[in-house]
Amino acid sequence: MFDLKNKKVLVTGASGGIGGEIAKTLNDAGAEVAISGTRLESLKALSDTLGGNTQIFPCNLRDPKEIEGLLKDVVEKMGGIDVLVNNAGITRDNLFMRMSDEEWQTVLNINLTATMKLCKGAIRGMMKNRWGRIINISSVVGSTGNPGQANYAASKAGMVGMSKSLAFEVASRGITVNIIAPGFIETPMTDKLTEDQKTNIMTQIPAGRMGTAAEIASAVLYLASQDASYLTGATLHINGGMAMI
Ligand code: NAP
Repeated sequence: MFDLKNKKVLVTGASGGIGGEIAKTLNDAGAEVAISGTRLESLKALSDTLGGNTQIFPCNLRDPKEIEGLLKDVVEKMGGIDVLVNNAGITRDNLFMRMSDEEWQTVLNINLTATMKLCKGAIRGMMKNRWGRIINISSVVGSTGNPGQANYAASKAGMVGMSKSLAFEVASRGITVNIIAPGFIETPMTDKLTEDQKTNIMTQIPAGRMGTAAEIASAVLYLASQDASYLTGATLHINGGMAMI
């Protein structure tokens, strides 16, 4: 339905549950996809299933130099970035009063600061082309908060404020910046939850189930497409009705 032929896309966290599905969906729509993450084996396995239109770019987003290198390599090897999907993210949960500075800072660095650096690096070429799409993957807890996740919620809420500000600044250049805020999605990140936690979460989801990575990827495809050209600064909440915001 949506055509991404000739679009060059960078997806971070492509070695993970949601990122892998985003890469697959955009690849299926005809895009040339740069897949990034730290686990080379997972990226290779994904690339094997996607075929020749995919290139692998390993990068540890903890390291600002590696982020610079990632942007440079993708532009050199693929010729630019038309669509940037900032999907990589981590949790380091702890109760607020027990949360160490390290737990706070690591989550902020990867979820928020790396996202900012990638937006900054990718937007130059988009401004020149007068076309671009940035899609940042936040979380429902960025709006609602969640006990034990002050660091994660702050990073995800920070993404929203940053994305809206950037959306203002680049809207006249044909560039859109949007956010997707998933609720609970079945991936390795949520596999970590205990059965008790999952049962409790289920009672809060009107749809009565967790979402799938494909249900996030289809929204990314829409936001990346030409058809979404008048939609910017928005947050799409995809959460089975868990938070109707
Ligand atoms: P996941 O399967 O754990 O994947 C996380 C991805 O982030 C992996 O590909 C991982 O790559 C990458 N990543 C983590 N640290 C990195 C680092 N230092 N450098 C580079 N890449 C790094 O999680 P997911 O569920 O697919 O989550 C994807 C996004 O959706 C995250 O931003 C998450 O916060 C958000 N989200 C998920 C849910 C959910 O219910 N699953 C809900 C709301 C929001 P490597 O493993 O290769 O390092």
